[in-house]
Amino acid sequence: MASQQALTELAKRRGFFFGANEAYGGTAGFYTFGPEGAALKRNVESAWREQFTLRLGNEEIEAPTVMPEPVFEASGHLDGFDDMLIECAECGESHRADHLIEDAVADIEDAEALGVDRVEELIRDHDLACPTCGADLAGEPVEDFNLMFETSIGPGSGQPGYLRPETAQGIFVEFPRLKEYARGQLPFGITQIGPAYRNEISPRRGIIRVREFTQAELEQFIDPEEDEPPLEAVEDVEVTLYPVSEQHADDGEYIETTIGEAVDDAIITSPWVAYFLGVAQGWYERVGVDMDRFRFRQHLSGERAHYAADCWDAESEIGGNWIEIAGFAYRGDYDLTKHGEHSEDRFTVFKRYDEPKTVETATVDPDMAALGPEFGGAAGDVADALQALAESDPDAFDGDEVTVEIDGEIYTVDTEVANFSVEEQTENGEHITPHVVEPSFGVGRTVYTLLEHAYSEDEVDDETRTYLSLAPEIAPTDVAVFPLVSNDDALIDVASDLADELRAAGISVSYDDSGSIGRRYRRQDEVGTPFCVTVDQDGLEGDDETTVTLRERDSAAQLRLPVADLAAELEAVFDGDREFADLQDRYERVDTDVTTD
Ligand code: ATP
Repeated sequence: MASQQALTELAKRRGFFFGANEAYGGTAGFYTFGPEGAALKRNVESAWREQFTLRLGNEEIEAPTVMPEPVFEASGHLDGFDDMLIECAECGESHRADHLIEDAVADIEDAEALGVDRVEELIRDHDLACPTCGADLAGEPVEDFNLMFETSIGPGSGQPGYLRPETAQGIFVEFPRLKEYARGQLPFGITQIGPAYRNEISPRRGIIRVREFTQAELEQFIDPEEDEPPLEAVEDVEVTLYPVSEQHADDGEYIETTIGEAVDDAIITSPWVAYFLGVAQGWYERVGVDMDRFRFRQHLSGERAHYAADCWDAESEIGGNWIEIAGFAYRGDYDLTKHGEHSEDRFTVFKRYDEPKTVETATVDPDMAALGPEFGGAAGDVADALQALAESDPDAFDGDEVTVEIDGEIYTVDTEVANFSVEEQTENGEHITPHVVEPSFGVGRTVYTLLEHAYSEDEVDDETRTYLSLAPEIAPTDVAVFPLVSNDDALIDVASDLADELRAAGISVSYDDSGSIGRRYRRQDEVGTPFCVTVDQDGLEGDDETTVTLRERDSAAQLRLPVADLAAELEAVFDGDREFADLQDRYERVDTDVTTD
């Protein structure tokens, strides 16, 4: 297992990620992905897109990252998107108050759920000190701190805007257009991959908690009464669950089960959430998460976001801690209802009935010429009260007179004056607000998990080597091509032609002719390149006869095979049609590390 320090050092040295703006002293919570990291992140995003957009038959959009204030008034973020802040009076450093409790008190895993007052009390009771300077924090106030970055849209005082704290809002606000695109047919799913911004109180653990990060989100819009997920596709998927009941139990254990059983046993109450957990389990396995260091944990009630009915997190074990890498929430109709209430647009879909329905509507059309003289200023209110009564209790109009009560006063009206009637109307359907189920993935945290879970060390040629055992689909580079030496034109010709040929076949290639071959292998091992190809003098036999050495990263095993076969063989391996072991059966193995100098 990699220590955080070893991984951070590797990440920096090999161009995966590093603190941004270091030339200007750095900015906490902002990271730059270097060439290897950006390629790795792109591959994670592509794999996510392939699964959650393409394979599930969804559509992807790209919405702006800056949104005007009313969006966040509606979504609840302006009022409620807070973390608990405590500031050290001595050194001025800000800390997440709930995290201080979690770090200090063994049996509290989720202090946020306890609320501000209780957290303040616990800091006092446990005499907690500032992690930066050691000063006493007891007595310092704990406050709610809104995590959104504010900006101003346009010149002058402009219009207040915010950097979106989740990509989801960009999908919700466009619902009126998106439903048209979907021709008003539920269910449909919209995805988005892009940056989100949170002014985290204390960014930490490298790219795990940062102030700008990439989310990959799917908003699945459903008719809660009709739409069911294709659960059969994932019912046999095995999962490790950590439900609320087990988290509360003294000797709480994980439940090893299948998605189908978890739904039957009501451990996961929403079949839609269960469905996405099943899909996600397969996806995490595919991209290379160590599934022995992975679990789904249900949110405790105090932890759930303001909108969520049931919520599970995907968590990976990193450096001995469980870290949330994705959230799966049943958001109900919260988001669309709120945007419907706060905006001018309609956030509903028209649901057509199988058969048109005839409905009776009771109305009154009071004779105001009679009501006015009789009730004066109260006549309008009496008319409204009569209409309300007609809707709630049409039988009240059966007699000669009808009475309504307004502010404790009784008004009696001739039924004829009220002019009561029942009209029949044919309705073809109704406007319903879809419910939303949301899988929300953090791309950076996934990247970090993959790096940490892939980090390996072993002994090769009496040396300890570090290598990243990344899934070929995710590794930044597919193949490295080396001419054994950099001063032999014949070798260089073959190697660079080969690099071109592989690139033309869609394989990403790193060409490297500097340093000893051993050092070049180590470099590629450290960035997780699955294969290295070395062109040496022994293999130069002329066009079709020329052979090269192919080395597999994890086993460090080497084969000699005709250069003419290489592109096709590697393509088959990358497409999953063939394994390296198959090649080992067919080509000559190179037992000694002939190419290491
Ligand atoms: P946390 O409790 O760790 O702050 P959260 O519950 O607020 O996370 P969500 O709002 O559910 O997170 O966001 C969905 C995903 O976005 C998370 O699972 C995580 O992978 C990612 N994410 C959230 N905040 C950050 C952050 N500050 N830095 C990096 N990734 C983040």
